[in-house]
Amino acid sequence: MASMIFIDPSSAAAVHRLPFTRFSNGLISLRRLVGPLHVCSPTPTLPRTLSLRSPRSSRFVTASMATEPSAKVIDGKAVAKQIREEISAEVSKLKEAIGVVPGLAVILVGDRKDSATYVRNKKKACESVGINSFEVHLPDDSSEEEVLKFISDFNGDPSVHGILVQLPLPSHMNEQNILNAVTIEKDVDGFHPLNIGRLAMRGREPLFVPCTPKGCIELLHRYGVDIKGKRAVVIGRSNIVGMPAALLLQREDATVTIVHSRTKNPEEITRQADIIISAVGQPNMVRGSWIKPGAVIIDVGINPVEDASSPRGYRLVGDVCYDEACKIAAAVTPVPGGVGPMTIAMLLSNTLSSAKRAYNIK
Ligand code: NAP
Repeated sequence: MASMIFIDPSSAAAVHRLPFTRFSNGLISLRRLVGPLHVCSPTPTLPRTLSLRSPRSSRFVTASMATEPSAKVIDGKAVAKQIREEISAEVSKLKEAIGVVPGLAVILVGDRKDSATYVRNKKKACESVGINSFEVHLPDDSSEEEVLKFISDFNGDPSVHGILVQLPLPSHMNEQNILNAVTIEKDVDGFHPLNIGRLAMRGREPLFVPCTPKGCIELLHRYGVDIKGKRAVVIGRSNIVGMPAALLLQREDATVTIVHSRTKNPEEITRQADIIISAVGQPNMVRGSWIKPGAVIIDVGINPVEDASSPRGYRLVGDVCYDEACKIAAAVTPVPGGVGPMTIAMLLSNTLSSAKRAYNIK
């Protein structure tokens, strides 16, 4: 397999997972594609009912029982496009009203090709909605102090409303020190402990919510999925996706259970959920038998699996067995084209909110 596929840990704007092991001498070796791969097979279909609203209309549709795939596809790509158009219009209004253009600063250290690609994509996304982007590219052997100096300058720069440090940083740098140096008012990734702490506390408001979980909830909202009082299961408890997703669902008054690698009966627990958010990194782990009829499924997982029929030699699948889910769930996100495009849209949204907050504009 010639092509490399990557995951972007900064801003959780992940698209692909790196199937290579990187050694300290700089060499890389191909490692096994994410596994184990659970092969999906047909599962029985069951009756279900759940009201869903199309994101572009106020019309409600009711999923009905079917023997063929009948789940509504939650189209993250289309929703993300719509959100970008909304952001673009707001950016223009802000500029007209007070002459302010939101700005996002990205600090890249070293020469990793994947990181450079992510930074380029973020820059392009900013340009597409009229947000200014500022990039600092430092050599791999830069000191922590140099990075901290740029963060400090961006913290004090009124034309910068969001600061992103592209991860991973070179191994001689202390990631925590560097991330903690970003002022909470410009922490558009939402990973600062103060933002996460506020997210966890009742009556407190985080200044920013991490982009991928925020994108998951936005999809539920835009498809008119009722969260209040519903049983939700989040599979995975990472700091960047699972844990904040569970906190967000709880803030929306869902009753939330978190399933992780030590959970004893994940299938039984997941089957009780009206809403499932899966962020594990195991291809096709969530089978049809894990899904309650009529559940809504947000699949965050992005897993490359070998596919000789694809020109790239692999294809991307989610954590959820999509074919089986389509026959049982009321609605499901595809992979790719579900949560992925929402992550970068939420980064733009966080940068815009930051600029508006700086000028006290609602
Ligand atoms: P992570 O940091 O590796 O966390 C994975 C979580 O899954 C952990 O909490 C782990 O439990 C749990 N887990 C692992 N195996 C499990 C099993 N067999 N049963 C139940 N739980 C299990 O991964 P992440 O960064 O959250 O990413 C998860 C997936 O989402 C990946 O596929 C990644 O590519 C994708 N992702 C997508 C986006 C996007 O924009 N769409 C953004 C970020 C990530 P423990 O805590 O017990 O180890």
